[in-house]
Amino acid sequence: MKILAIALQKEGKILSASYEVLEAAKSLGGELHTAVLGEAAEELAAEVAKRGGGKVLAVANPALKQFQDEIYAKVISALHDKYTFDLILAPATTYGKALMSRLAGANGGRMASDVTGLKAEGDSVEITRPTYGGNVLASVHPNGGPFFVSVRPKIFNESTEGDGEVVTESVDASAFEGRAVVKDVKVEAAATQNLAEADVIVSAGRGIKGPENVNVVQELAEAVGGAFGASRAIVDAGWVEYKHQVGQTGRTVNPKLYIACGISGAIQHLVGMQTSKTIVAINKDKDAPIFNIASYGIVGDLFEVVPALTKKFKEELSK
Ligand SMILES: Cc1cc2nc3c(=O)[nH]c(=O)nc-3n(C[C@H](O)[C@H](O)[C@H](O)COP(=O)(O)OP(=O)(O)OC[C@H]3O[C@@H](n4cnc5c(N)ncnc54)[C@H](O)[C@@H]3O)c2cc1C
Repeated sequence: MKILAIALQKEGKILSASYEVLEAAKSLGGELHTAVLGEAAEELAAEVAKRGGGKVLAVANPALKQFQDEIYAKVISALHDKYTFDLILAPATTYGKALMSRLAGANGGRMASDVTGLKAEGDSVEITRPTYGGNVLASVHPNGGPFFVSVRPKIFNESTEGDGEVVTESVDASAFEGRAVVKDVKVEAAATQNLAEADVIVSAGRGIKGPENVNVVQELAEAVGGAFGASRAIVDAGWVEYKHQVGQTGRTVNPKLYIACGISGAIQHLVGMQTSKTIVAINKDKDAPIFNIASYGIVGDLFEVVPALTKKFKEELSK
């Protein structure tokens, strides 16, 4: 089985979710290739090679500095035309999802998204992915390639070592032409981590009462070095931006620790976070459904509990 893992980078740094994809790809034991695209792709490819990327295909071009799904898809398609992969894997991050849907569309349409399990099965693979809002796990068996898989972050460990060699690839110049032009990149002032990649997420729900109290929960997120999430109720109310929404119509997350503050636990929220390793719920209603899935429950007023936790974390983490 010929496998291509796509190691996506952002701002010249390989994303940790890319090393998780590498670990997943390595576990299948096929003929492993890894694609690294960027302005200075060779340097990044050398890092990936040290962490077990197999044949690391480096494509360097100024047009690859910022992620653009149209251009990246054309470059990966060109690599596929040359090598003919059976399985192509990328992280199910915002970039990865945009890329894989476009790639699958252009190359036969076979794909499985947000995959949580991969197992070698003879010269093929058994793919596991949650479906029906996470209530059912489907087994997918590709019958023919190329098959595109986006891998849910925080399921696999990061690949830290292994064999690899860098191969510099040249791709036809037309691949680097896209319809969109990135003119400027503005980095957000607030330290809002990417939800999909975060190890810790602290989320707020309607229990915060109004937009003036968003900072109560955001401060806890900052104190623990986590990302800030939200229920749809407060996104729809316009208190926080959509990019923070967790759930069926927001992000699916899988952190090591999820702290839900003033969130009732509607099924549409739970399907987006119930696979978190540890869930802490803070709610003043002891019968709130969120407590059914919580590892630890705190029945209390979030306006007392959350600032107390923030204070304690700041004290402990500054020691
Ligand atoms: C098609 C569809 C898709 C949806 N997609 C999503 C989605 O992606 N994500 C999502 O989150 N929702 C989604 N929803 C909405 C979902 O059904 C709920 O309405 C929503 O999750 C409720 O948000 P909430 O828990 O913040 O608010 P509420 O349900 O109003 O809960 C607020 C909670 O705060 C508690 N509380 C109040 N005051 C305090 C206090 N002082 N201290 C501690 N606790 C307090 C209350 O006891 C209550 O449990 C979707 C709905 C539909 C129909």
